[in-house]
Amino acid sequence: MNYVESFVQLIAKGASVAELKAAAQNRPEFKAVYPNSVHQYEQSVLFMVKGESGKKLIIANDGSPLFVEFSGKLLDSASGLKVKEADLNVENSLVLRKYFPFTNPVSLASAPATFGVGDRLGVASGGHIRVLRNSKAKPILAQQSIRELNLTGRTYPEVLADAVWAVFQEDYQDGFGADGDHLKTPAEVKMALDYGFTMITLDCSEHINNVSADDTDKINALYNEIAPEQRAKLEQTFLNKEFKLKSGLTISFSPEKLKLNIVIYQKAINFAIQIYNDLIRTNPKPVDFEVSIDETLTPTDPASHYFVASQLMEAGVKVNSMAPRFCGEFQKGIDYIGNLAQFEKEYKEHQQIADHFGYKLSIHSGSDKFSVFPIIGRECKGHIHVKTAGTNWLEAVRVIIEADPALYWEMHKFALENLAEAKKYYHISADMNRVPNIETLSDTELKDLMNQNDARQLIHITYGLILQAKDAAGNSRFRDRIYACLHQHEDLYYEMLQKHIGKHLELLNLT
Ligand SMILES: [Zn+2]
Repeated sequence: MNYVESFVQLIAKGASVAELKAAAQNRPEFKAVYPNSVHQYEQSVLFMVKGESGKKLIIANDGSPLFVEFSGKLLDSASGLKVKEADLNVENSLVLRKYFPFTNPVSLASAPATFGVGDRLGVASGGHIRVLRNSKAKPILAQQSIRELNLTGRTYPEVLADAVWAVFQEDYQDGFGADGDHLKTPAEVKMALDYGFTMITLDCSEHINNVSADDTDKINALYNEIAPEQRAKLEQTFLNKEFKLKSGLTISFSPEKLKLNIVIYQKAINFAIQIYNDLIRTNPKPVDFEVSIDETLTPTDPASHYFVASQLMEAGVKVNSMAPRFCGEFQKGIDYIGNLAQFEKEYKEHQQIADHFGYKLSIHSGSDKFSVFPIIGRECKGHIHVKTAGTNWLEAVRVIIEADPALYWEMHKFALENLAEAKKYYHISADMNRVPNIETLSDTELKDLMNQNDARQLIHITYGLILQAKDAAGNSRFRDRIYACLHQHEDLYYEMLQKHIGKHLELLNLT
């Protein structure tokens, strides 16, 4: 008798959910049953199994309407119960969300701290829940930009469904968010909202003019593009005044400084206000609105942050979080590059502005910035949003190196050959001459490779090309093997994520 049938027999004998969870937890023959996934709805009992080739949902007993609503195949069972095996697809996730409301994403505006864990492969959320459920931060499990969707070949419904199944698997009932990340157009925002995403990160970068303070001709030309009435109003609002924050910090604008801020940011501010009024304010469910001005060449100085934020507030925009571009560099997957003393000074001012207006600062490319986390953790006092994404993929790569080094070798060579393509959409400073020649590495040294910054960035930015690569026959070159490896070694992947994200939470004072 296989383990699914044995487990169903326990259900047929009337075992309670608690007894079933204990059996899944303690009895070796049930090690492929996720203990926390056992749930009951009316007469039906549901549980998830790991399966040889992929996870499945099993529903035993057709004594509830959900039994017919899940699509799947009926299994033979001698238990006397009807038993169905369902795929963890988008359609079935919608049935799950209907009957188990805790699996729906929610607004986390009332949570002081939130932590975004972009899961590019859709297999990390179980590990993320295990570490974040014991922390002060609430998880934003689904978090993808359009760029990431294109590079991974996934859709918003699929991204959300993967998070939903993980929430059910882990029985995580404390609420999670879903972030349509770095959205740039009304159509993108609308799409994410229509699919039920609960957070929108509006990327204003295409409306920000990158000009330097000494380029007066360009500044004057751009200034003239702003409507005269708006210019007059801004001058009246900002000139010859001192803005005193609750913390005591004062901010003021000289005519030149005001002009520069108007030229750089005003169109972005107008854009954010319009998106808010057209799409966010009118959405039937609450949306956590984040305004991001980080993906631009211009670091946001604190006065500019105030300039942007005060106008959003004046216009009645409910900002849940704001992502300035901090001084120094927040590159993908590696530690902070820059002057720590300057960062600390400016971060404190940004924090005071965020506190003044009552929103969270959002730290983008927030993974692995271990040298600045203690500063952020101390100053934010538990009010923060952090975004991580690619670092979770790098932990997956660690698992591949450990479990299937031959697969990693192929991925590594492919990444080196295709780096130029990836560099078109990700900015990194990695020097490929510093990446060790993997042919000379021992197994132990190979395992250490994901601690080397240049190698990290190489693999960090080539994920899309690796996932989409096809062989001559049109079959995936790496994708299926990557998923198979991570499925087989899920425990190891979860452990690595718990350790790695746990280190972030600890340094940020969120444990
Ligand atoms: Zn960003």
